[in-house]
Amino acid sequence: MTIWKADFASDQVGVVRESGTTLLLHRQKAAPDKHWRILCLVEDQYRKNLRSSDKIEFVSDPEDDFDLFVAPNPSAKGVFENILARCSNPAAPLVTTSSVFGARADIVVAQPTAASVAAAIASLEPLVARVSALPRIPQGADRNGLLALALAYTRNSVIEGQWEPCSPQMIGYPLLLGIANARSVLENLAEAGLVRRRFYERLHVCDHCDSSQLHARESCINCHSSHLTEHSLVHHYSCGFQAAQRTFEHRDGYVCPKCHKLLRHYGVDYDKPGMVVECQACGESMTEPEVGFICASCGRYTSGDDAGRRDWYHYEFLADGLSALRASALPHADSAEVRNGCSLRDFRLILGHSLSVAQQHRRPITAWRLTIDADGLAKQVGRRGAVEVCQLMRELVVENMRSGDVVAGLPAGIVACLSETDAASAEAELERIRGAIARTIQPHLEINIEIFENERIGVLLQDLQ
Ligand SMILES: [Zn+2]
Ligand SMILES: [Zn+2]
Ligand SMILES: [Zn+2]
Repeated sequence: MTIWKADFASDQVGVVRESGTTLLLHRQKAAPDKHWRILCLVEDQYRKNLRSSDKIEFVSDPEDDFDLFVAPNPSAKGVFENILARCSNPAAPLVTTSSVFGARADIVVAQPTAASVAAAIASLEPLVARVSALPRIPQGADRNGLLALALAYTRNSVIEGQWEPCSPQMIGYPLLLGIANARSVLENLAEAGLVRRRFYERLHVCDHCDSSQLHARESCINCHSSHLTEHSLVHHYSCGFQAAQRTFEHRDGYVCPKCHKLLRHYGVDYDKPGMVVECQACGESMTEPEVGFICASCGRYTSGDDAGRRDWYHYEFLADGLSALRASALPHADSAEVRNGCSLRDFRLILGHSLSVAQQHRRPITAWRLTIDADGLAKQVGRRGAVEVCQLMRELVVENMRSGDVVAGLPAGIVACLSETDAASAEAELERIRGAIARTIQPHLEINIEIFENERIGVLLQDLQ
């Protein structure tokens, strides 16, 4: 089956999926010396059959060097997502013939003739040069972050969020197509000061399944049904009784269900002071229904007051991002800094990263926060004295920790991240630290300790924002 094919500069040009068929893709004469290496996004068995010419080299192994992705059909999206993690040039420009790649496509060729694809490729030469001027993006923990930075930098583009109503999160980042967990990658970059957040949207999240596919509606305060009806209230002056209009309705007119008198004149016998809402599911009546969410993912109810919120941002590239790209590494505190306590910003970054690694490999991880009553201490020893005592305490803590533990100072305390450690071992370590503090520091310090294990570390991360 021919995907596209044409005569161009007296050569057959095109991408042909049938095995054994000669396939040539020739560049335009405008850049006569350029030799293109193209990774064609077709299945492995087809890619092997693509025949290179003297100016076009079809790369069959994604791990070999290449300059460009060419996506000849919509199913190329799956191929792209499969090879992105291991290919040699994940930030390479992408020429495609359909809209499925969204913002990740650098050029969409609407009429995919060989000439138009060749013209598209030739026009991407400056971008190819910009991408290849950066060091190759290495494998490893920093790869996705570096790729996000490289895409933003080389395309001179803000990494923008966009509605994705079919995903539980409801918002995605089309430029980062194929990067798993793009939001946390971007948040880590923002924490590290490599990109700047720009507010986009605040979404609510389901209490039960964390989805943002929520539908807001008025619901019964008792049973949360949305099967509500509104009725006028009738107020009988002489006995003070007040209820929904239909409880007064009678073949003779309105009759008070309490005192059984006939209500003759509006404004004299009775009035209608407002509306009442009745639940058709449980019979409850209320003046105001509550606003709540029904989750389209799990079908369960979350009340509006309790629903968690998640803020989404666009991310703008910052100059420090370029230093990271040139160094092929995201800033991590080196071990000496870690030993003496790192900055809170680095700590958040390391803690977030360690948590995702631990969750991925189902390993234990514990964090703790130790704080003292700084105001109480200042009353005893003065402000300056309190600062010195805090400093001494931090040094004691660092001395009493294992070499792999990561710590950072807080205004009146310290936080620590202990990989491969469960809460019980962390408590044993804290006991040792308490002992050291009690032996060394006068006056006696009121120490408050909170321990966060596994998922609960998310709470601490939120607190440290
Ligand atoms: Zn109800
Ligand atoms: Zn009455
Ligand atoms: Zn849900």
